[in-house]
Amino acid sequence: MTISPPIDLRSDTVTRPTPAMRAAMLDAEVGDDVYGEDPSVAALEARALALFGGPDSRLTTALFMPTGVMANHIGLRMHAAPGEEVVCDADAHIVAHEDAGLAWHAGVQTRTALTERGLLTADQLDRLVRPHGPYVVGTKVIELENTHNRGGGSVYPLETLRGIRALADERGVKVHVDGARLWNAHVATGTPLAEYGKIADTLSVCLSKGLGAPVGSILLLAGEQREEARVLRHRLGGGWRQAGMLAAAGLYALEHHIERMAEDHANARLLAEGLRERGLTVREPETNILLIDAPGGASGVADRAREQGVLIGAMGPRTLRAITHLDVTDKSAATAAQIIADCV
Ligand SMILES: *Cc1c(COP(=O)(O)O)cnc(C)c1O
Repeated sequence: MTISPPIDLRSDTVTRPTPAMRAAMLDAEVGDDVYGEDPSVAALEARALALFGGPDSRLTTALFMPTGVMANHIGLRMHAAPGEEVVCDADAHIVAHEDAGLAWHAGVQTRTALTERGLLTADQLDRLVRPHGPYVVGTKVIELENTHNRGGGSVYPLETLRGIRALADERGVKVHVDGARLWNAHVATGTPLAEYGKIADTLSVCLSKGLGAPVGSILLLAGEQREEARVLRHRLGGGWRQAGMLAAAGLYALEHHIERMAEDHANARLLAEGLRERGLTVREPETNILLIDAPGGASGVADRAREQGVLIGAMGPRTLRAITHLDVTDKSAATAAQIIADCV
C-alpha cells in the first residue's frame, strides 16, 4: 500500500500556497523594490514591524528578504565585521546548514558551545563571550535560535532570554535571534511577539516555513541600520525588483496562519503518541518538530517509509525528524505514525 499524494513530514518548507493566498498574490500591487517603490513589500514590512516593534522594542524597521539564510547573514553582519566573532550553539542553523556562508562572505568566526536541545544559557555565555585584546578575537554578537531546529523545535523560556539579554548589555555585545520558527515559540508559549523585540538587536523570521508562504523571510533591525542592510542585500544579489506578489503571500500568512500553528503542534503530539503506543522512543515535541529514535539506522527507515508514501528526514545516523505543518491533518498524522512504526 502506498499513500498518494504522500504525507510529507520532511520539512515545513514543503507547504504549498493555499487558494486564498494565491488569490492575494494575484491581486498584489507591485513596483520596483530596488527603487523602494513596491507597495506590497512596504505593507508586509509595516505589518511585521507592527508585530515585533512598539514600546521598548529594539526593532524599528523591517526588510523583506529572499531567504532566511540571507536574513541571518545580514543581521549578524550588522554587529560583526570580518575578523570578529559570533558565539552560538554547536548545532545552530548558521553553523550546520548555511554552507559556512558567514565564513565565506563575511569573514566572521563562529565560536560554539555544546548545549541541551540547542538552547544556550546566560551562564554558558558568561564564559564564552570575551572582549577583543592583543591576539584575542573579540565577541561581538550572541546568536540564538528560537525555536531550535536540530534541537527538535525546542523553545527558549522567556526568563532565559531575558537573562541572556542582561548579560549582553553588561558585556557590551549584541544579540541576533534566528527566529525562522519564532512563530511556533509564540504560539506554544503565548509569549507576545513584541516581547521578542525587546530581546533581539536583530531578528530574522521565515515566512516560508510553517506560515506557508512560498518564499521569503523578514529581517527586523534598528532604523539606522536599514540602508546598510539594503546595500549588503544588494551586494549579495538580493536586491529584488517587483517582489510584491511574494510579499502579498507573506502578508496573507501573517494575517491568517500564525495562530493556526497550534494545530501543527497538536498534530506533532498526536504523531508522538501514535509512535510511542507502538513502542518507539520519541522526545515529547514542544512545537512542530519531532525527533524519533531509529536504533537500526535512520536512512533505512526513511527509505522504507517513502515507499509507503510517508516522507521523513534522517537527522543523524539514528535519529529521524518529522515536521508537521499546514498541509498535514490529524488524520494523516495518525496514518504516518502507523507507517513509520512499521518501518522502524
Ligand atoms: C529554514 C531555516 C533558516 C533559513 O532558511 P532559508 O531556507 O534560507 O529560508 C534559518 N534558520 C533556521 C533555524 C531554519 O530552520
